[in-house]
Amino acid sequence: MNLQQRDRAVNWHPYTQMKTAEDAIPIVKGKGVYLFDDEGKQYIDAVSSWWVTLHGHAHPYIAQRVSEQLNTLEQVIFAGFTHEPAIQLSENLLQLLPDNQEKVFYSDNGSTAVEVALKMCIQFSYNQEKEKTKILAFKNAYHGDTFGAMSVSGRSVWTKPFGDMLFDVVFIDTPTSDNLKILKSQIKEIADEVACFIYEPLVQGAAGMLMHNPEDLSELMKFCREQNILLVQDEVFTGFGRTGKLFAADYLTEKPDIMCFSKGLTGGTMPMGITTSSNEIFNAFLSEDKYKTLFHGHSFTANPLACTAALASMELLLKAETQESIQLISKKHYEFSQTLRQHPQVENVRQIGTILAWDFKTEHGTSYFNTIGKHFYKEFLNKGIIMRPLGNVMYLVPPYCITAEELDYIYQTILQVLTTNLN
Ligand SMILES: *Cc1c(COP(=O)(O)O)cnc(C)c1O
Repeated sequence: MNLQQRDRAVNWHPYTQMKTAEDAIPIVKGKGVYLFDDEGKQYIDAVSSWWVTLHGHAHPYIAQRVSEQLNTLEQVIFAGFTHEPAIQLSENLLQLLPDNQEKVFYSDNGSTAVEVALKMCIQFSYNQEKEKTKILAFKNAYHGDTFGAMSVSGRSVWTKPFGDMLFDVVFIDTPTSDNLKILKSQIKEIADEVACFIYEPLVQGAAGMLMHNPEDLSELMKFCREQNILLVQDEVFTGFGRTGKLFAADYLTEKPDIMCFSKGLTGGTMPMGITTSSNEIFNAFLSEDKYKTLFHGHSFTANPLACTAALASMELLLKAETQESIQLISKKHYEFSQTLRQHPQVENVRQIGTILAWDFKTEHGTSYFNTIGKHFYKEFLNKGIIMRPLGNVMYLVPPYCITAEELDYIYQTILQVLTTNLN
């Protein structure tokens, strides 16, 4: 049997209807921006392998650091024990975050980072004998696939089978200069019961790279703070340079109480999640009373290999040449967005930093959208580019090591593919 047949026999893939899915493409090697399949065909990874790969695949520096760590200490229980990579990573990360972020809680993916944040907020009020059980989130939000994370995500085809089992969340529109007044009055009505507001800052990734303004979000955050609503900023996608700045937080004038990280955290090398908190949150768990403890942990909490990968990735991220690459991608995306805007089948072109997205215009309904996404997916694969449209939303989220020439090749291919699909 070849790899595809063996895969089909034993593997159940994520977000995949296994009955109709085409065979998965076996990838045997990665190098920089490229992935190589078992027949030697190479693909530009224009989606950073589900938005995680920052510096390219199999980065030699990260590989070297992780391999040294692997020969030193691969894992240790993080209750009652600690280690240099976790301490160093917490120190380094906190230095880059808003100055009220003072404690780091480790887990192993974006969804668990969100679960931890929600539990911190709910128990924050529980520990102070206040009854705050409502949670505020944006419509169309995506915060992950575990039950708590699903609950604070917009209700969709993804959450439908579990609808009755998700806890109630108050969903509000993303802010614009026009609706801020309405949003505030909606929030004010229930403010006393609201434990926290969780939001993807500036970009709602999985919803289709929907974007809102930093000024409007800052104003909404400020209002929530005045109402004693804790702010949970989910930077799982936006963190580590994606938006052109190190964090979306760097665009905002207000500070969150809690932040969530994953995806780019280890440069896409190892799974890891982080939830950071202010001392105000942390201190509310300090007590002689055992019941006020945050009873949460995962087997691989603060895994030394993942911490080391994150340390190496952050070192690379802060290098001048990486920062220049991020600026180059942002500039080239911006220029290309001007061209895209002229295209008759393109609308809602939007861009922030290394994220560029647009809608493929069509008069057909939603089912057609899905077909068109799949159709484009295959066209791009044929041309050696991995893009993964979300329905009729097309986007680019490349690794930072991509060159100007590789970007130009992607842009040209996009125009070519769009033009052959004029209907
Ligand atoms: C991907 C994502 C998550 C979930 O992360 P996983 O590691 O896939 O569980 C949470 N929040 C945001 C904003 C995301 O984009």
